Amino acid sequence: MWFEGAWPGTAAGRLGLSIGPVIRAVHAVDAGSARVLIEWRAVARLTFLGAARTVTGSKYLLEAGSARVLVDCGLFQGLRELRRRNWDPLPVDPASIHAVVLTHAHLDHSGYLPRLVAGGFRGRIFCTAGTQDLCQIILPDAGRLQEEDARQANKHGYTRHHPAVPLFTEADAYRALAQLQPVGYERPLRIARGIDLEFINAGHLLGSAFVRLRLEADGGGDILFGGDLGRYARPILPDPSPVEQADVLLLEATYGDRTHPPDDDGEELAEVIRSTVEQGGKLVVPAFAVGRVEEVLFWIRRLEGQRRIPMLPVFLDSPMATEALRYYVKRRRELDPDQQRDDPPTARFRAVSSREESKAVTQSASPCIIVSSSGMATGGRVLHHLKAVLPDPKNTVLFVGYQAAGTRGRSLVDGAAEVKIHGQMIPVRARVAKIDSMSAHADASEIQRWLGGFRTPPRRTFLVHGEPEPLAALERAIASRLGWAVQVPEHLASVELP
Ligand SMILES: [Zn+2]
Repeated sequence: MWFEGAWPGTAAGRLGLSIGPVIRAVHAVDAGSARVLIEWRAVARLTFLGAARTVTGSKYLLEAGSARVLVDCGLFQGLRELRRRNWDPLPVDPASIHAVVLTHAHLDHSGYLPRLVAGGFRGRIFCTAGTQDLCQIILPDAGRLQEEDARQANKHGYTRHHPAVPLFTEADAYRALAQLQPVGYERPLRIARGIDLEFINAGHLLGSAFVRLRLEADGGGDILFGGDLGRYARPILPDPSPVEQADVLLLEATYGDRTHPPDDDGEELAEVIRSTVEQGGKLVVPAFAVGRVEEVLFWIRRLEGQRRIPMLPVFLDSPMATEALRYYVKRRRELDPDQQRDDPPTARFRAVSSREESKAVTQSASPCIIVSSSGMATGGRVLHHLKAVLPDPKNTVLFVGYQAAGTRGRSLVDGAAEVKIHGQMIPVRARVAKIDSMSAHADASEIQRWLGGFRTPPRRTFLVHGEPEPLAALERAIASRLGWAVQVPEHLASVELP
């Protein structure tokens, strides 16, 4: 309660009373005549701190009453202008955030956590148990890579910064992990004053979820953060769970303008493998260490089993992917029902552990399949393999996931004649192929299928996590098919809800 100006009754004064998040103040504007003015305030405010008109850096700040919750805490990746944002201070003091919630463990949704914690965030980070498992391998690895890249840049002098420093370290990553708090699917939980959380399976990655935040305040309603939307009828992961209602929806648009090719029962992959072997070449598959690797290995094993490809040495050259596979085996009950009958995919493949062994695989000339990360060829051991195979036309490099603008992967699929790796220009003479059907993101028709589950349209729908063209295409498609009004927020836009 507060008072401004002269005492009521003697002259116009302001007597105020805070009464919760909906009504900010009741003012006795003129106490003599008891004129009362009620000031309304929006129930909540949502600020888009990332993944607005781009596909990385997912971060959404929800402020409701006195509570501040950050949904997703991802790294910007790809173009330099985007990566630079990782170094800018957040427009909100990390220490003032009460809780973080993660939709899933991919770096573009979790990779800023070490920096947030180093910046003073001390609250809990709510996630599913599967996300906690995967973060335990993804985040320390990202810290090590950051440190290694800074070291390499300083050693070889290919940096504009003197000295180059890591965005965060492995130790920062471990500090962030200590704040993770696992929560089961579909188990609502109060996470901050007036805000309840529920995770719903999104079918995009082990542990992936839609995040429903329910606001207790009158007229508060609920907000569904779609995270990344999975696909229907794929091996490994279950279908995305249907959702019938949300007052506010945040929906990804990664493939909002595309339809994935129909399921070809692995034939495209079989063709790539057969033609590479016929030429006596090596096949390098850059794959996100967590997520795509499981599907690639599933198909290789299946094609071998059906004798549609020759048996080849298959190397999994990513310690992180090897570790992630263990969690997929451990949490098979959360995967597609088919997976619960099959043998775990770990038996057939050779996991490359040491750097020496990795070098030996790089140097060997005999035909083989090498699955290695990172998936967009932005770092990791796959770079050594690419350096070795790209100059020779008998080899093939096969991309199986989304390639963000500005990444080496994107340059290669766009037909670059040479790419820079470790400061060296490498000519591209190998075949570069791309299979879209293994994407973990719903395409335009799958997004529509999922939206078809809503019984009533959300009061507001925001399209996020997409580049401009897919965003515009999805906006048009939703307007014409469903008649929903859709907004495409700008980076750092802030809106009042509902
Ligand atoms: Zn993802």
